[in-house]
Amino acid sequence: MRLVLLSLVLCTLAHAELRVDSNFEGGNAEVVNLDQTTRTLRIMPALHEGRGWPCWWHLKVEGLTVGEDFTLQVQAQTKPYREKLVLARSWCQPKHAWISTDNVTFKPCATPGALTEDKAMSYVIKAEASQMWFAWGTPFVPSTAEKLLAEIATKLPGAKRFELAKTRDGRAVNGIRIGNEDAAHQVWVNARHHAWEAGGSWVGNGFIRWFASDEPEAVALRQTTCLHFVPIMDVDNVAIGSGGKDAVPRDHNRDWADQPLYPEVAAAQRMIADIEKKHGLNVYIDLHNPGADDPIFFFGPFGFERMTGVQQQHYKQWIDLAAANITKPLHVLDKYRYATYVTTEEERGRMSSGWVRAHTSDASVSVTLETGWNSKLMSVEGYGQIGAGLGRTLAAYLKTTPESK
Ligand SMILES: [Zn+2]
Repeated sequence: MRLVLLSLVLCTLAHAELRVDSNFEGGNAEVVNLDQTTRTLRIMPALHEGRGWPCWWHLKVEGLTVGEDFTLQVQAQTKPYREKLVLARSWCQPKHAWISTDNVTFKPCATPGALTEDKAMSYVIKAEASQMWFAWGTPFVPSTAEKLLAEIATKLPGAKRFELAKTRDGRAVNGIRIGNEDAAHQVWVNARHHAWEAGGSWVGNGFIRWFASDEPEAVALRQTTCLHFVPIMDVDNVAIGSGGKDAVPRDHNRDWADQPLYPEVAAAQRMIADIEKKHGLNVYIDLHNPGADDPIFFFGPFGFERMTGVQQQHYKQWIDLAAANITKPLHVLDKYRYATYVTTEEERGRMSSGWVRAHTSDASVSVTLETGWNSKLMSVEGYGQIGAGLGRTLAAYLKTTPESK
């Protein structure tokens, strides 16, 4: 008995001191408490004033002992992110924390989190290495985008990388164009108008990998289509780990006005207007990663039911083909939803898909794909399947759709 007790004491003493670091690309955590004895760390997403919701977290912990139970608790940020608005805790409390030993490959922790009495989500994690990374979801940061774009450009020598703009903080917003600039069909896909919605970029990752793949449908699609792809729009907030959504005075997805605040939004508007003028834009897709319990669905055009003629046919065709092709890991809803929480025409017009709709012809389809996140299925692979399904939807749609000009 004494021996057991002694070894227990030695074991406790043997633990190295835990250290927390979030000072890296996409890192974000405010330490509330770190208890070295119980090996419990409590954090909340750090608030970046004026830079949107404090919901994204991503941190490194050093000093772990392999095999020990480490407890990570995540509570809501207590300070308001805008005027008097304090963000509800559900946005920062996924059922599973995503964990990694190399900050590249993440997986959901084995046991789902449980709420403490004071409403922090508590994840008990068996340490797999002396240093580990923990995050709200699998991170997708500017360096991830860089690697993806470089890979696609190598695979398809005809692809052309472009810098959409430099952000207000001086970072590059990068994209890639695949296909002949004068192709019959023109498509624009972008993600991360809301910085924290990393899953949007992972859907984009799956989409472009399918688009660039050797699957016969993809090869055929590339013959007739020019794709313009931007994996991260709000690069500044992604880089600092801020949420972006509801930034002051407005976030990227409310910035599609006549006078955008963000250079990358202004540049996207210019390029899209140019494509529309020269060739007609067939499809615009904005990728998001919405509420905790949302399914996978498209936000469609307000007034879809009142639409007539070719415009209505195109939107109907799109959602039907999406329902047939986006089936894994979950089926996409076969009916549009509408962003009715945006109540004024003025604000609706400042959303990217609304702006594109208003600046393209009746032959264009402009939609937002929203992929729920609070599930173990929403891994890089799961999001990738949705992205591939989106690619197949696009191929099927353009096959049956006349040129938009
Ligand atoms: Zn969003």
